[in-house]
Amino acid sequence: MLTCKEVNGLMTDYLEKQVSLTEKILLKIHLWMCENCARNLGQFEKTLHFMKKMKKSSEVPPDLLNRLREIFDQYARCPICEKEVRYFELHRKAEEQLIEIIKRTHPDWAEHSGVCSQCLRYYRQELARQKKT
Ligand SMILES: [Zn+2]
Ligand SMILES: [Zn+2]
Repeated sequence: MLTCKEVNGLMTDYLEKQVSLTEKILLKIHLWMCENCARNLGQFEKTLHFMKKMKKSSEVPPDLLNRLREIFDQYARCPICEKEVRYFELHRKAEEQLIEIIKRTHPDWAEHSGVCSQCLRYYRQELARQKKT
């Protein structure tokens, strides 16, 4: 099986149809099971599509697509769960109540250092749970 990191590495190749059949199948299987990667791919695809359209219609510098790839290929570590995620996946904005609740368990954490979508979801659930009681 492919890991999330391997899948991320294959994304650009996949979208430009440069993967082998085996890779493609392995990738599809992973995307069926992994919500995170499926969403990443969706976002990436949309941006890539947009970029290509721009490229056709106007004079976008040819290296822009490469720059975009670089951005998408960057990794960062979530300061809360320490999992490696794609750089753009770290949320740097959160609701005030959410910030409060994160800081309760992670006093050193600051909003600008970011939080991964998984942690964000966890804390949102936590917040909803506390509101009920
Ligand atoms: Zn994955
Ligand atoms: Zn996290």
